[in-house]
Amino acid sequence: MEFESMKQVTKDWIEAVKALSVHPLVKVICPVCKKGTLKMDDIRIPNYGIVESKIWCDKCGACNYLRMPLRHDM
Ligand SMILES: [Zn+2]
Repeated sequence: MEFESMKQVTKDWIEAVKALSVHPLVKVICPVCKKGTLKMDDIRIPNYGIVESKIWCDKCGACNYLRMPLRHDM
């Protein structure tokens, strides 16, 4: 994969994460295979005050992790 398209995939992941964090059930096409849809699982780690979100594709299995501070209103 070329560098430019790698960068685009990274950008697509960030957009996907943004969309999913606003609407967890929104359908986001996988930036890697462009066929599957992304799913998100939240793993709360209250001891560290963070939420780890695993975002993964149901077709090709690509996945990314995102760590965010745990919000107190959740
Ligand atoms: Zn995929």
